[in-house]
Amino acid sequence: MILPCFLSFVLGLFIGSFLNVCIYRIPKEKSVIWPPSHCPACGERIKPYDNIPVLSYFFLKGKCRNCGERISWQYPTVELLTGILTTATVCKFGVSFSSLYYLLLVYYLIVVSFIDLKTMEVPVRLSYGALLSGLLLSFFVPNYSFKEAVFGASFGAGVILFIIETYYVFTGKEGMGYGDANIMAVVGAFLGWKKVLLTLFFASLVGAATGIILILLRRGEREKPIPFGPFIAAGALLSLYFGVRLINWYLGGLGL
Ligand SMILES: [Zn+2]
Repeated sequence: MILPCFLSFVLGLFIGSFLNVCIYRIPKEKSVIWPPSHCPACGERIKPYDNIPVLSYFFLKGKCRNCGERISWQYPTVELLTGILTTATVCKFGVSFSSLYYLLLVYYLIVVSFIDLKTMEVPVRLSYGALLSGLLLSFFVPNYSFKEAVFGASFGAGVILFIIETYYVFTGKEGMGYGDANIMAVVGAFLGWKKVLLTLFFASLVGAATGIILILLRRGEREKPIPFGPFIAAGALLSLYFGVRLINWYLGGLGL
């Protein structure tokens, strides 16, 4: 498994480079395929030798070779994150169709999280495409079924809509957005209804911890909304990699 894990890391770095393009262009409704990458500041086309994931960022000291404008930390972060998560997925599910299926979800979660962080919006078309892929490809995933995928998606969307409405009834404010319901529908399609609950549980934990840290770091900005999409993504990833083990551990701890 050492060779597939290493190869998937390198492949993941390059896929991460493409995900960066998606994060930058999808909110602007631009094609992610054409034209090739260029500097957002001066428009200069990026040379292949300046487009090596992670490494180029450090060789260029985080600046455009042509105009010297700073390159966002987002680029190497997304590349490294994609490399690590691609490796984690292939190491867990092997060189299999399941790996490919879960990687689609992982890549969707990365793109949607960074877009949500930057723009506070969740692109509807992206989520719809991911949802359709999750439903249609579920036929080919061992120990999973189209029925489970459809139920998972409906359950995921339903749970978030229920939270949105309940929160609104009691506070008159909108807590989560409908984009969050879309993200959870995608998670439900790929992972099924049980992991939707687990995702929600982890997302709340990670969200609460982050909220507390943010309040401690910059008091007074408590009213500033925090996008919830990245927390759903973090929760879904934890459920994907550790879900079954954690459920067993929890039930074991209860003596069940
Ligand atoms: Zn430039």
